[in-house]
Amino acid sequence: SNIIIENLKKHIKESNLEDAVTVHLAGCFGFCAKGPIVKIFPDNVFYIQVRPEDAYEIVNSHLISNEVVERLLFEEPDLDHKKVQKHDDMSFYKKQLRIALRNCGHINPEDINEYISNDGYTALGKCLTSLSQDEVIDIMKASGLRGRGGAGFPTGIKWTTTKNAPSKQKYVICNADEGDPGAFMDRSVLEGDPHSVLESMAICGYAIGSDTGYIYIRAEYPLAIDRLKIAIDQARDCGILGENILGTGFNFDIELKYGAGAFVCGEGSALINSIEGNRGEPVLKPYVYAIQGLWDKPTCVNNVETFANIPIIINKGSDWFASYGTDDSKGTKVFALGGKINNVGLVEVPMGTTLREIVFEIGGGIPNGRQFKAVQTGGPSGGCIPSKHLDTPIDFKSLGEIGSMMGSGGMLVLDDSDCIVNICKFFLEFTVEESCGKCTPCRIGNKRLLEILTKITEGNGTIEDLDKLQKLASTIKSTSLCGLGKCAPNPVLSTLNYFYDEYLAHVIDKK
Ligand code: SF4
Repeated sequence: SNIIIENLKKHIKESNLEDAVTVHLAGCFGFCAKGPIVKIFPDNVFYIQVRPEDAYEIVNSHLISNEVVERLLFEEPDLDHKKVQKHDDMSFYKKQLRIALRNCGHINPEDINEYISNDGYTALGKCLTSLSQDEVIDIMKASGLRGRGGAGFPTGIKWTTTKNAPSKQKYVICNADEGDPGAFMDRSVLEGDPHSVLESMAICGYAIGSDTGYIYIRAEYPLAIDRLKIAIDQARDCGILGENILGTGFNFDIELKYGAGAFVCGEGSALINSIEGNRGEPVLKPYVYAIQGLWDKPTCVNNVETFANIPIIINKGSDWFASYGTDDSKGTKVFALGGKINNVGLVEVPMGTTLREIVFEIGGGIPNGRQFKAVQTGGPSGGCIPSKHLDTPIDFKSLGEIGSMMGSGGMLVLDDSDCIVNICKFFLEFTVEESCGKCTPCRIGNKRLLEILTKITEGNGTIEDLDKLQKLASTIKSTSLCGLGKCAPNPVLSTLNYFYDEYLAHVIDKK
């Protein structure tokens, strides 16, 4: 992308258009399958799969001759290829509602002025100057916002518990330890709109009475880290972070902490252990870190996507946010849509959108003439959902009822060439590798599950093995210490439920 930007700038300069046209870096548009993308304003033209050598033609044809470069437009039956295409008309974007991703692809993430000119930091200003701590929390409660990291805990209740915990020192933590294979929702928000997370953390700090925030981010996200560092420096320079913010007497600052790539550190208590410099492993429940968390002080942990929703909720109101979604789940959810799907990318849809709409309308269906087989939601801890449940609305409750989960937003589509047992084995290999080893059901049980699955995929399984899989998976689920172990058997249980015939074929073929 940097070369495309440089080439555009060079040709614009050579054409003496510098005073009329500027080139801006932007975060991710979400349409990964068609990137890199160049969008021309105010025309709204959306060029896809742009190569550095296309810059000359874009400048010459579009900017000088006022003719769109047709070969760089998105081809779709309902779109007139000869006309300027608004990207909102594309099937990939038509059913999306971008609340958490509102600024991604729209502003330069390295320029605080662009954030500010798009209502940035007005929510923080409003909270600090005209809302009490309880009023901010009441807005969160009324909005119905639930945690987007996977557990779906109501954000307002979490904030109330932390605020009411008796302690002078409290902490805000942003969980940016996104570890699901194929998931990149948080990464895109941090790379495309880092200030929205900083603003939300400061709002949270004000609401619960904290002056210190930490962003726990995986070290494998270097661009997101760079942009966060730039954003923190800019916010400090503008008096938005640090002491006496905006002259209101409120102090709040943010520090980055780097995760070393352990999946289990996305679990709240393991994350807190890791920040404290201890081994990153979960703590035995009951453990309420809202009351006794980081260094034994009340701590509010929210994930990146949850935070990204908060400024706009403060600005537009709880009723506006709650008007989207279902009774159970308000607002939108961001998904990393991948696997056997035409339009691979990052999508944000209102809760209640069906899986069918996401896979076949936004995702453009299955490539190469193959048939849909299943969609895995919730990452390696989620479940495989078959075609008979494609009309299930996406919300926390409905996905749970069909044996899967929302998780943090991974969505992997499988086609009829995928072996369901192999896919299940793939997910289990990941969770076995990532188990911290603290408790026996997860450390040993999941390994045994993997051994049985391997035996089946190698053609040495028996029908008795299928019973063992079922019993062992159920035991691990009910006895493991943390979410990693409890949810690791989900792919096994959901595929045994929906694709038992496929397992059976493996063991019968062998005979
Ligand atoms: Fe560690 Fe697994 Fe036990 Fe969680 S369930 S504490 S990851 S061994």
